[in-house]
Amino acid sequence: MWLGHTAKDDYRVYLLGAGASYHDTMTKRLPLPLANQFFEEKYLEEFWRSRSNLVDYPFEDSNLHKILKHSFGFIRKERTAVNVEDVFSFLEVYLSTYNSNTSTRHILEEARRELLIYLIDLIRMLSKDRNVEDTIHNLVLMSLGKNDSVFTFNWDVLIDYSKELDIYWKKREPVYKSILNPYSGPLVNEEKTMEWHYREGVNKGDIGLILRLHGGVGLAHCADQSCPGNATPIELYPGTPVAEFDSCSFCGSELKSMILPPFVHKTYRSNRFINLQARLAADRIKSATELVIIGYSFPESDYEAITLLRLFRPNPDLFAGMSDLIQRKLIIVNPDAENPIFQEKLSRIFSPNTEKWKYDMINMKLYYSTEKFLNEDVKPRVDWQLKEYKNEREMNARKSSGAAGRITPPVDWWEK
Ligand SMILES: [Zn+2]
Repeated sequence: MWLGHTAKDDYRVYLLGAGASYHDTMTKRLPLPLANQFFEEKYLEEFWRSRSNLVDYPFEDSNLHKILKHSFGFIRKERTAVNVEDVFSFLEVYLSTYNSNTSTRHILEEARRELLIYLIDLIRMLSKDRNVEDTIHNLVLMSLGKNDSVFTFNWDVLIDYSKELDIYWKKREPVYKSILNPYSGPLVNEEKTMEWHYREGVNKGDIGLILRLHGGVGLAHCADQSCPGNATPIELYPGTPVAEFDSCSFCGSELKSMILPPFVHKTYRSNRFINLQARLAADRIKSATELVIIGYSFPESDYEAITLLRLFRPNPDLFAGMSDLIQRKLIIVNPDAENPIFQEKLSRIFSPNTEKWKYDMINMKLYYSTEKFLNEDVKPRVDWQLKEYKNEREMNARKSSGAAGRITPPVDWWEK
C-alpha cells in the first residue's frame, strides 16, 4: 500500500564534487583545478614559490619534483597530467608499507609536506577569485529548504561565500558552529557526553546541515592529539597565511590545515570532526528522498564516500516498512553522465532505474549539462523557496486559521 508522502517529509541532499568548484571558477584566469590538473605549468608557475615564503627554491630542486619525475614520468611543461590523488597515495603507501632507507624517507616526507602546502596555498588563493552569478554554490544554497542539506567533498572555501544566501542560515549557523566545536554550546546534562548531547541536538533539530566531509583549507586544528584544539577546528579568516605557519592558541603547538588528504587510506575515522560529520551525513542520506550529486566522479579510492552514498539505497532494517515506500530520486550532474564507464559506476553503487517509476528502486535522472540542470531544476526551486518562506512567515503571523496552504513544489519530472 502506498501511504503517501507529503512535501514536508521530502528532503534533498546535495553532494558537491570537484567539478562543482571547477564550474564556479572556470571563466577565471586560473580555475580551481581538477585532480589531474594540479601540475600544469600555469599552476606551478603561479603557486610554487611562495606567497607565504614557504619554499624559496625552484620547483626543479624540490623533493616533490624528484618524486613526480622518477615515479610518475612527469616532465615539466610537457607531460603534466599526473593525478594528485595518485601522488598522495604513492607517498603514503611508500612511507607506511615499504621499507626505505633514511635518505629516501626524508625525500618522501619532504615531498609530502611540499605537496600539501602547495595544494593548500593554491586552493586558498583560487577560491577567492570566483564567479558570482549563476554559480552552482550560490544557486544550490539559495534553493535549500529547511530540511535540505549540502555536503561538499571539496577543500576550497566557495561554500563559505554562499552560506549566507541560504534563507535558513540563521537557524543552521548554531548547528554548524557546534559541529566545529561541541564545547561551544550550553551544557545541559553533565552525565551525557557533549558528543551525545550534540548529536541529539542536531537530530531533533529537524534542520538540514552544511558539511565539509573532507575538511577544508579554511579550517585549522592543533597538530598535538592530546590538545582540545585537535578535535575542534577553528575557522581561519580569509587572507590569513596557511595554518602551517601559525600556532595553536591553547598549547602553542603547530597548527595544521583540517583536511583529509586524497589518498588511498584516507578515513573518516581520522578525528572527531571528520567522523562526526560522516555520521551525520549518513543519517541524512539514509532518510533523504532526493540525492543530487554534482561534479563527482566516484574515484575508486573513495571507499568510505562510496559506502556513504550506497546508504541512499533502501535500508535493510526497515525492509518492507515505510522506508521502502519512499520515492528515492537520484540526480546526477556531470559532463561524463553519458559515458558508459561512468554509468557502469553508477549502476554498481545505486542500481538506478531510468525507465519508469518504481517503489523499490532508485529513480535516476542524468544531466550532462550543468546549465540545463541549474535552469530546469535549481532555479525554479529558488523561486519556490522564496515564496515558501514568505508563505511560512504569513502563516506564523496569522496562526489561528492556517489559511495559507503549502505551495506545490516544482520539478516533478519523475511523475511525467
Ligand atoms: Zn594545541
